[in-house]
Amino acid sequence: MKLHEYQAKQVFREAGIPTPASELAESVEAAVAAAELVGYPVAVKAQVQVGGRGKAGGIELADDEDELREAADSILGMDLKGYRVERVLVEEAVDFADELYVGVTMDRGEGKPVAMVSTRGGVNIEEVAAEDPEAIAREHVDPAFGMHPFQGRKAVYDAGVDPAVARDVSSVLSTLYDLWEDKDGADAEINPLMVTADDEVIAADAVFNVDEDALFRHPDLAEMGEEGEFAESELEQKADEYGFDYVRLDGNVGIIGNGAGLVMTTLDLVDHYGGSPANFLDVGGGAKADRIANALDMVFSDENVDAVVFNIFGGITRGDEVANGINQALGEFDEIPKPVVVRLAGTNAEEGMEILDTSLVTVEETLESAVQRAVEYAGEVTQ
Ligand code: GDP
Ligand code: MN
Repeated sequence: MKLHEYQAKQVFREAGIPTPASELAESVEAAVAAAELVGYPVAVKAQVQVGGRGKAGGIELADDEDELREAADSILGMDLKGYRVERVLVEEAVDFADELYVGVTMDRGEGKPVAMVSTRGGVNIEEVAAEDPEAIAREHVDPAFGMHPFQGRKAVYDAGVDPAVARDVSSVLSTLYDLWEDKDGADAEINPLMVTADDEVIAADAVFNVDEDALFRHPDLAEMGEEGEFAESELEQKADEYGFDYVRLDGNVGIIGNGAGLVMTTLDLVDHYGGSPANFLDVGGGAKADRIANALDMVFSDENVDAVVFNIFGGITRGDEVANGINQALGEFDEIPKPVVVRLAGTNAEEGMEILDTSLVTVEETLESAVQRAVEYAGEVTQ
């Protein structure tokens, strides 16, 4: 589970990591009030859980109220990589001389936690790791002992951090490691950790992802997760509600299947036949009418979807049950909003195909033909 920047900063601040003064705002007026509390100049930052907000136009600096109004107005409500911005963090702007990176994560290759420091902060650290891995100093930690203070100092030294701030940076790194361990973090990251002209070190951004399976041990973090949820995209919220595994993609062929492998295969075939998948949607086992109806609700309410393909393999879930579910769910509509193609295989597939109401759906015998048909339908709409 990912925390929002403002939440991660709260966690970091409570642990003693310096962060800029900031206030959350949901409207332009609230942003103005927040800026007065914080003091100009301020940074206005979109609170959505995507990286690279800076480049995507989700962060603006404002020196006075006029600039702030303009910035808040343009960022609030904007679409940032598929997320609608509902809230901004209005934050004391930091006048920085340097941007560093510090992070803690699990190095699965080594089977150990790793603490990282780089002087190449402020940019996408994955790119730095790919182009110039030497630019990131790494210290592996024995989890039985935790991070020794000398390890933090060594990482900071190896990274080539200015000695004037080395002590403060290694203290931030130690605190971040302890937090990561105590709070069952998956990734903890400060990028950038800003260094001011008078050698102050301050966390200008904050990422904290928590291991979801350990959330029961951290009711405070679980609560933050619930509070942040309304910022999820509408479709992701629905998927959570319905208990589906769902990933939105950018094509126009909606895909529904019962099993992750089945759905992946369908995605590949849609691509193979020249189409473009709109989503990954696994309804899981036991595809009863209400589950089918929920799955259809998801793909029908995705404005990108022009046609839908069902790929169902009957195992414990019988084909005739699924067919009844599809008929029932589609029977609710006066008009089917988007063409639906169904492929059924496995247990009671023949019975299922006979049951399916062909005035509601197109039935295809093979997966290949079903996918081709859906791609055709989707293509007809876009032409
Ligand atoms: P991200 O793009 O989503 O990772 O958002 P960040 O919070 O890391 O901000 C991206 C960049 O915006 C930073 O590297 C800075 O260059 C700039 N920025 C963010 N906050 C401030 C600030 O308070 N003052 C100044 N001058 N620049 C900032
Ligand atoms: Mn950042």
